[in-house]
Amino acid sequence: MSEIDTSQFRIENEPYYKPVGNEVEQFAAAYDVRMPVMLKGPTGCGKSRFVEYMAWKLQRPLITVACNEDMTASDLIGRFLLDINGTKWQDGPLTIAARIGAICYLDEVVEARQDTTVVIHPLTDHRRQLPLEKKGEVVNAHPDFQVVISYNPGYQSMMKDLKQSTKQRFGAMSFDYPQAATEAEIVSHEAGIDLKTAERLVQVAERSRNLKGHGLDEGMSTRLLVYAGQLISQDIPAPAACQMALVEPLTDDPDMRDTLQAAVQTFF
Ligand code: ADP
Repeated sequence: MSEIDTSQFRIENEPYYKPVGNEVEQFAAAYDVRMPVMLKGPTGCGKSRFVEYMAWKLQRPLITVACNEDMTASDLIGRFLLDINGTKWQDGPLTIAARIGAICYLDEVVEARQDTTVVIHPLTDHRRQLPLEKKGEVVNAHPDFQVVISYNPGYQSMMKDLKQSTKQRFGAMSFDYPQAATEAEIVSHEAGIDLKTAERLVQVAERSRNLKGHGLDEGMSTRLLVYAGQLISQDIPAPAACQMALVEPLTDDPDMRDTLQAAVQTFF
């Protein structure tokens, strides 16, 4: 499969990632033994950025798949396509990653149906193989290949959880929003705003995070704080920036909106 241009999956420039603990060392150790890794945590807390950073640091190509409930096993593995010469097999992203020795990042894997998720099983145990049943081929994973999955335990329900037989194939790392000082530094850096303003955005977010389970499914993510900061850096007044980036995305409920607006007014 030498026709695959692996350079498109390479991360050329160091992504900005601020470690919040010893996750860099732990992930590197897991990669050294090619342990599949599961990243758990709320949306927008830095999981994807961390994987990008690690792929850059470990100098591996990175193939990311955003999982969804309509995704089928063929979307991961590949399928026969019709063209003028007849049928032609096209590898899916998981197969490409296994062939070229990439890190394959399956984002929000819990969104995928369980029958889709099980295709990663033979790749995530001692076999490190991917059977392409329709094609009659078994792909032996490249020695550098690794599977990384993310999921948000907050959304978990009886209907949507990973099977134990899937979970127990991974070493797992828990992520959460960074500590206030660290998060402010991240927001300041990412949005190009002063630290004082970033600190205030973080304080607004902390208020919202305390409302999780009390009318909010999730608090404001680090990603949303970066959005708010970016609007502020474009000279949008802070209250309007917070309304657009922090309040409106989170809720459609008028009472909850009032509560969040009050939190914004406390700090801006
Ligand atoms: P997730 O994958 O958890 O949904 P992301 O990795 O996309 O979230 O993070 C959202 C944004 O938050 C990133 O684009 C980045 O700007 C910022 N971010 C969060 N944590 C960090 C961190 N530790 N270092 C640098 N940026 C971070």
